Amino acid sequence: MNIILLGPPGAGKGTQARHLVETRNMVQLSTGDMLREAKDSGTEMGKIVADVMARGELVTDEIVIGLIREKLAGEKTEGFIFDGFPRTLEQADALGELMASEGETLDMVIEMRVDDAALVERITARSTCGSCGEVYNDKTKPIPADGKCTNCGKENDFKRRADDNEESLKTRLMAYYKQTSPLIGYYYAKDMLKVVDGLASIDKVQGSIGAALDG
Ligand code: AMP
Repeated sequence: MNIILLGPPGAGKGTQARHLVETRNMVQLSTGDMLREAKDSGTEMGKIVADVMARGELVTDEIVIGLIREKLAGEKTEGFIFDGFPRTLEQADALGELMASEGETLDMVIEMRVDDAALVERITARSTCGSCGEVYNDKTKPIPADGKCTNCGKENDFKRRADDNEESLKTRLMAYYKQTSPLIGYYYAKDMLKVVDGLASIDKVQGSIGAALDG
């Protein structure tokens, strides 16, 4: 089953995608992770996207569609989880075409609905384990006092994203409402949309997503 997790920055898409990878053997395709990797390894493309990402704007459709095209080519899995892609109508159209050309179908789009005040709070307090991606929050789930990740045990490898500050978050939110939120109507019209309450606890959201996938 191939699905999209759709929602604004901080909705919990990455956290839920990782859970699906662990429990259902699915493959997470996060364009944000791919772009950060390109940036960190200093590739030409990484240099091009670095400033755009730091500001919180969207990188070009051409670049992200190219990244997804490469990952999809020939790969067979229990299912893909598209996390942070598509973010524009052009990307959504391209994804439909790419899936068809691979003989795959896109089965479901899960919108993780949250309110903006909660997003700002979540994102400005967020850090992640550099090794496994486990997400921490200064208030609700602080980094353990012994400095060891509760998920993978790696010591003192916690990172804050450069774009997790109030300034770029505003731009990222604006990009979501202007460019990405039309996808809610797009997939609703295709009868593929399911909505879950992204403000519920992580366990509850996992339950709602599981029920949607199995229902
Ligand atoms: P994310 O980790 O999904 O929050 O993405 C981080 C940043 O990467 C975004 O703010 C954009 O600058 C860029 N990005 C990630 N995915 C896309 C996409 N599908 N289209 C355009 N830009 C993207």
